[in-house]
Amino acid sequence: MKISQLGEFGLIDVLKKFAPVSKEVIRGIGDDAAVLPYSKSEYLLLTTDMLAEDTHFTRHMSPQAIGHKALACNISDIAAMGGRPTFAVISIGIPKNLAVRFINDIYKGILLLAKSFNVIIVGGDTIKTDKIVINIALLGLVKKKNLITRDGATPEDWIFVTGPLGGSFKSGRHLNFLPRLAQAQFLVEKFPPSAMIDISDGLSGDLNHILKASRVGARLDHASIPRYKGVNLSQALNDGEDFELLFTLSPIKALSLMDWQARQKSFYFYPIGTITANVKERIDAESFTHFK
Ligand code: ADP
Ligand code: MG
Repeated sequence: MKISQLGEFGLIDVLKKFAPVSKEVIRGIGDDAAVLPYSKSEYLLLTTDMLAEDTHFTRHMSPQAIGHKALACNISDIAAMGGRPTFAVISIGIPKNLAVRFINDIYKGILLLAKSFNVIIVGGDTIKTDKIVINIALLGLVKKKNLITRDGATPEDWIFVTGPLGGSFKSGRHLNFLPRLAQAQFLVEKFPPSAMIDISDGLSGDLNHILKASRVGARLDHASIPRYKGVNLSQALNDGEDFELLFTLSPIKALSLMDWQARQKSFYFYPIGTITANVKERIDAESFTHFK
């Protein structure tokens, strides 16, 4: 069988079999970050993301924005677990004809974002490749009581997103987005979600990850899904790389969140549907997957 027939998530399921479950691992493959033992009150989080030239970016794009994105998608994954990012290593594959300045500017983008999110770069690796490749691995910490995974959604929970969706590639937002760490930290402290994920594959695909892990279904109120100007429903559902957070809240917490946000203007959380007990109520997924 070819990889294209398996798809990205089929392939991850195959790879999962090579990563046996260990008592040392609190959560392995299957969430936004791995969850590992750390201290009495905290878990260690570990996530990694890779960007490749001509797959995720081209040399015509701003190298600083490419660097920004390489770190931002990792911070987004740590945020989605309820944690705060800490230390990162950066690995790069560089073609020998590439201007040194391009790599310098990629690093500028990484470092600027690292500074504003308190991430410290502690190492990496450098190799020669035919096309530019950037891989960042990021550690984070999460208070045990704040850990949010994909599998805690229950029927009647409300479904929320942190911002408008769609058109991320066309607009360049997929390169310059800011991870929703402040929103995630606010939520875990004040209105702890039952499940959370960051939207990288697309609302439909990422909601399906929550539904599958939580063994539930969902109904979306299409009219309530916030979209960017000029974006249609299908794009909002499927474009992906929005890097907004998608989370579920018990009805009681959802109502008090709505009450809270009616009275202030710091964050806005958009209710877009509800979780149901019918596992067949999945969202039509045309979401972005690699190898399709
Ligand atoms: P995200 O979009 O949140 O970064 P992915 O869809 O990339 O998550 O990955 C889903 C899960 O599969 C994660 O737990 C990730 O660690 C795991 N995973 C992805 N690729 C591999 C791989 N090559 N080997 C082992 N695990 C992988
Ligand atoms: Mg993620």
